[in-house]
Order: sequence, then C-alpha cells, then structure tokens
Amino acid sequence: MNVPFIDFRPQYETIKTEMHKGLNAVFEKGNFILGEEAQDFEKDFARYCGCKHGVGVNSGTDALYLTVSALDIKPGDEVILPTFTFIATALCVSYTGAKPVFVDSEPETYNLDPDGVKKAMTSKTKAIIPVHIYGQAANMKEINALAAKRNIAVIEDACQAHGATYQGKKAGSLGQVGCFSFYPTKSLGGFGDGGMVVTNDQKIYEKVTMLRDYGRKNRYEHSIKGYNSRLDTVQAVVLAEKLKYLDEWNRLRNKVAERYFKGLGKLQGKVGLPKIKSDRSHVFQTFAVRLKKRDKIMEEMKKRGIGVLIHYPIALHLQEAYIDAGYKKGDLPFAEQLCEEVLSLPMFPHMSQEQVDYVCQTLAELV
Ligand SMILES: *Cc1c(COP(=O)(O)O)cnc(C)c1O
Repeated sequence: MNVPFIDFRPQYETIKTEMHKGLNAVFEKGNFILGEEAQDFEKDFARYCGCKHGVGVNSGTDALYLTVSALDIKPGDEVILPTFTFIATALCVSYTGAKPVFVDSEPETYNLDPDGVKKAMTSKTKAIIPVHIYGQAANMKEINALAAKRNIAVIEDACQAHGATYQGKKAGSLGQVGCFSFYPTKSLGGFGDGGMVVTNDQKIYEKVTMLRDYGRKNRYEHSIKGYNSRLDTVQAVVLAEKLKYLDEWNRLRNKVAERYFKGLGKLQGKVGLPKIKSDRSHVFQTFAVRLKKRDKIMEEMKKRGIGVLIHYPIALHLQEAYIDAGYKKGDLPFAEQLCEEVLSLPMFPHMSQEQVDYVCQTLAELV
C-alpha cells in the first residue's frame, strides 16, 4: 500500500466548483492585488480567529517579520522563542538585527517552556514568540503573565494552529498579535505562498498594513520604508473557500489522530504519542511520534511506501545559520532529544482508515 505524507486532491475536489467561480470572477475583473476578495478574506479569517483585524501578507515568515518590525524591535533587542520550531520563527527576529534567544521545550506538548522563558529574560527582552507546535497551543497563560510583568509583546507563531483553541479562545487571539502561514501543507493552505497577521491592536494593525504595501499612507505618500508583501487576490479566493471547511477538516484530522492513538496505544514504551492538554484542542497539523532508532525506522517505512518527514531534525540553536549565536550541543537538551526522536506520520483530513491502519501495522512490526 502507498500512503502519501499528504494528499491535497480530496480538498481540491471539495472546493473545486465554487473556487473556480470565484477565480473566474477575479480573472474577469483583473483585481489581482488587494482586490475586494482579499479584503473580505482578511475580515473572514480575523473573525474566525476572534480578532478585529487581519492583514494578508505573502507568507507566514513575512507575517512574523512585519509584526516584529511593527513593534519597533531593533539591533540590541532580544526576542525569546523556542529552539524546537521552523527556522522562520527565528529569522523574523534576525532580519531586524535583534537577537533571537532560544529556549527549551516543555516535556508534554514540546511547546515553549515558560520556566525557560523566565530564565532567559533580560532587560533587553522586547518580545516572546510562542509557537503552537504541531497544532496545539503553547502554555499561553504563563507566557502572557511573564510578558505582562515586563510589559512586552507576545507574538503567536500560529503557523501550525489554524483553528486550535486554548481555554475557549482561538489561536491567533491569545497574545497581542497572531501570525499565520497559508503555505500549501498547512491546515489552511493556498495554491502558493500566503500569510496573515491577526490582532485586536489598532496600532499594530495600521503599521503592518502600511509595511506590507511599501509603507504607503495613500497612493503617493509613504510614511515609512515598507515592503512589498501582500496576499494575492487569487490566493484569497482559494483560502476563503477552504476556510468554510476548516472546522470540518480539523475534525477529520482528529478522527485520524484517534485511530492512530488506538492503533499505536499498544506499543507503549516503544512509540511516544502526542499528549493533549485538557484546556486546549489539538488540530493535528502534524501527527508526530517519538521513537528510539528513529532514522532506521524512517528509512524502512519509506521503503514500504509510507510518506514520513521529520519536524525538526536540527534544533535552531544548533543550525549552521545560527552558529554566531554561540550555543553548543547540550545547551537545550530536551529539544535536542526531540530532534533525534520525532517522526511525523502521514496526516491529512481525508486519510482512510485502511491507510492509518497500514501505518500503525508497519510501525508495530518495525519497533
Ligand atoms: C510554516 C511555518 C512558518 C513559515 O511560514 P511560510 O508561509 O512558509 O513563510 C513559520 N513558523 C512555523 C512554526 C511554521 O510552521
């Protein structure tokens, strides 16, 4: 049997008819940049997240970067973030000349560890960027409390958590600003790059809106040195159509996860399973297990037709790109251990029971 890591086709089939209607309208009108469909989608997605404002941008990386810029973070400043994440979480800080300060993960959720944050805080700390890794929110209560004491910003990297909830609130509305990616493999993914900043903060909203459009105040006047980072109208049409199904698709992801839990539960001690905290939901953008001898098992699974990936094999503090940050192996030990053990199994909403069972059986044989 062949089980791809992700299969986009069923989602495409679901939205096809309506989406093509929407796309045709845009092709006829030619309003490709900042068209009304893009503005409608900003409103829809912001509302979905429980936020007043949404600003469409060209990627999750830019959502983060424009947010960090809007907060006036600059050389000499420090921003705290997890080392166990995708590199864009740190790059957005580096682009401004500020210093990313890497922190270890919590044992249960693999999310940013609040105790580590506390220890990493200095007088230079200007913001904290928790990442809702794999689709489960970070410990926002403690992180927000630490930030509030020092009056610094909390920027959510919600690029893996579209629709996830924490104590009844949606990811993106849990800090001062929420940043999303619509990269094709994300739970809400376009047919190309895209991203969004959501917030209730009027000032940040206005600044990011200017930054993504050449620092424009109006057509000819530029108040700040901005960028070109907008969400295409065409992508907005695709995403608006997919947004209608996001909750349903997240529910289906949870059903796949349940079947994984059932199928892999008997391998206790050999396969480490995700843990869902009682005060939050998990949207399973990624279903990662932990394995000793991960690399061997991974190669064998690939040979048997199963698409698997590693998120992430190298912690950011040990990446060559961050050699200048001066960390060494052993500095953030739990994240380093995760990097050696995690394996992302196939996960997409329309994955069949037979596909899940085949992955479970194969894994059972290999461990
Ligand atoms: C995907 C991702 C990003 C970057 O998003 P792009 O749209 O690819 O730029 C940032 N942070 C995390 C945690 C991600 O998973």
